[in-house]
Amino acid sequence: MQREVLYAGVIVDVRAEAVDRIFQYSIPDKLAGKLELGHRVLVPFGHRRVEGYVVEFSGELEISADRLKSIIRLLDEEPIILPAQMELARWLRNHYVGLLSEALQFMLPPGNRYGKERVGFKQQQMVTLVNPDVELRANATAQRRMLEILLDKGRILASELVKKARASYSSLESLAKLGAVQIEDKVLERKVAWEPVSDPTLVLTEEQTAALREINKERKGSRRPVLLHGVTGSGKTEIYLQAIAEVIKEGRQAIVLVPEIALTPQMLSRFGARFGDRISVLHSALSLGERFDQWWKIYNGDVSVVIGARSAVFAPTPNLGLIVVDEEHEGTYKQEQGSIRYVTRDVAEKRCELTGAQLILGSATPSLESYHRALKGEYNLVQLTKRVEERPLPAVELVDMRREFEEGNRTMLSGALREAIAGLAGTENQAIILINRRGYSTFVLCRECGHVMECPNCSVSLTWHRSDNRLHCHYCLHREVLPPNCPRCASRYLRQFGVGSEQVQSVLNEEFPELRTVRLDSDTTRRKGAHQRILKEFASGRAQILIGTQMVAKGLDFPNVTLVGVLSADLALNFPDIRASERTFQLLTQVAGRSGRGDLPGRVIVQVYEPNHFAVQCAQRHDYTGFYRQEISFRRKLNYPPFSQLIRILCSGPAEETKEAALTIERFLLSRGVSRDNILGPAPAPIDRLKGRYRWQLVLKSEESLSELLHELPAVDPEVRVIVDIDPLFLM
Ligand code: ADP
Ligand code: ZN
Ligand code: ZN
Repeated sequence: MQREVLYAGVIVDVRAEAVDRIFQYSIPDKLAGKLELGHRVLVPFGHRRVEGYVVEFSGELEISADRLKSIIRLLDEEPIILPAQMELARWLRNHYVGLLSEALQFMLPPGNRYGKERVGFKQQQMVTLVNPDVELRANATAQRRMLEILLDKGRILASELVKKARASYSSLESLAKLGAVQIEDKVLERKVAWEPVSDPTLVLTEEQTAALREINKERKGSRRPVLLHGVTGSGKTEIYLQAIAEVIKEGRQAIVLVPEIALTPQMLSRFGARFGDRISVLHSALSLGERFDQWWKIYNGDVSVVIGARSAVFAPTPNLGLIVVDEEHEGTYKQEQGSIRYVTRDVAEKRCELTGAQLILGSATPSLESYHRALKGEYNLVQLTKRVEERPLPAVELVDMRREFEEGNRTMLSGALREAIAGLAGTENQAIILINRRGYSTFVLCRECGHVMECPNCSVSLTWHRSDNRLHCHYCLHREVLPPNCPRCASRYLRQFGVGSEQVQSVLNEEFPELRTVRLDSDTTRRKGAHQRILKEFASGRAQILIGTQMVAKGLDFPNVTLVGVLSADLALNFPDIRASERTFQLLTQVAGRSGRGDLPGRVIVQVYEPNHFAVQCAQRHDYTGFYRQEISFRRKLNYPPFSQLIRILCSGPAEETKEAALTIERFLLSRGVSRDNILGPAPAPIDRLKGRYRWQLVLKSEESLSELLHELPAVDPEVRVIVDIDPLFLM
């Protein structure tokens, strides 16, 4: 019988639109019957050899036979892209209008098998003593020393042995040749360490029990996603832990996503206490080698729980049972780079659909999208209305900063907050102070001509940092010295305005020298491990005040915090952004939730300029549903998400070409039936220049998916980069 000839459809790892399609290759005899979908292969491509992934087989040759090339070899024994992962990649490419090669990258182990960033398992040589009685030459003293060490230890790492005996590798090799020792390769796991804590399984409260029951009901039934809406401190994590324990009992795996890498150690410790070594962590702050080892451990099924930031949603668990997206409303769950700008919650939902796993979305302040879906019945809405152990939600006091100003207070601290901070002295109580700007002063303005110091590459104002006495651009890497005179009118009256976290710290240190402070923002956490060190200072009580940006609002659990202060809470409200109210409400509720989590009641002081804004008012009352009702009615009126889908098409490059590209795209959309009313723009983006590139954008509002149409966007000037952002978070 004649064997049917098959051709392999391969996606090559070359990140460019022009090559983002399936290329046919022939299958060499040595691979016949061995090659499977999801295999990683080495293929000739142009004049190079590149990595590729087998995504289909076909019996028909679609190119001329003389152009057909053959696969060179397999790069792994096993197909490393699981079938459901392949499906997920296809969905990502279609839904987010991106490159399939990029979508597949999410599914692959870190690093490459071939080319740049090559990684492998860490191999170490182990030496075992076989025969101590071999004859050595008289002058072989180093070898003798090695034998002595081996007589003591029996088995030892080659590197250690050579070092200890002050010997060379070649003399170790001669020992092996003589038959005295055996040298073998051993894979060493680059382990990710965590601090063990004691964490006994807790007896669930009534509300927690009911929540767990709903989760299990869905999991074993129709598998609707569960939206766990629980006030801060209601014990959501305990529910995750117990839901996961059941999944593990069935031999399946769980993925737990957290919004911030800094929260992984805390989670890791708690999960480690319950589930021991069968936990893993995946995020970008690990070294390439660490990530590589974790990936394979997960792929091989040696892990029961994966904890990580957004990209861990792609962890290659072979038998997934559950995904938890904790603090699902957080903006950090949106991928803001590359051609596939995914929303983690939606990817998780898709992955659960493809694998039969259950999804839990947890939050004290669910995103409007999720709550809306829950009210429509697409999600099972489960509520936790009380904190555990009858702890009250903290009282939130609003301080009107306009009145403070009228009364002669020109400082950044209101009377109430200043007094409350002073009250910490001599106690073990702690405070968290939130300021949502970093740097010292947020802009520099000439009092004579009104000139604002701007970045030469971006249309944004520069922030002065005291630490290096420089003006910084927070969007690109530009830094410059503060000039003595105004660059426009040469006046000497350049003045600094606006308060950033650096200034808050220095003011507090001056006013309250007895209270030690630490600061958590992207300036102080640049170095590896800095984040953990700062949180530890605070957790141990060595520091009494934690000052920080948004970072301090998320998920932290410190029982001694009795005071939370928020400086200018409504700054975010003035952003020209449809999500400004939602973000303000979430931030205030979340940061207030950090207070009063232990035995002592908490107090929250919020300084505002618009105390009557509904987002501020609802946050003060801990009133999520009140906020939701008002905000959703605005969204409905304006036909904004969740009633429509937003799509942002951003063009960037040289001024003229960029504008031309935006206009070309507009013409295309109109010609393909998109209504004029549903296109905002094209217009320069609010930040119309970034990193030296001009920016134009179109924002589409659509009730049905436009993804298919957007795959056909017309070609524009090659200097112009076009990004399609489905469900964008920011429109700046
Ligand atoms: P959330 O994530 O909802 O803000 P956490 O899960 O961090 O809340 O829980 C808040 C605190 O309550 C934690 O210190 C946790 O150990 C404790 N806790 C949770 N559930 C219980 C319970 N059933 N009994 C006693 N303490 C609990
Ligand atoms: Zn000037
Ligand atoms: Zn800049």
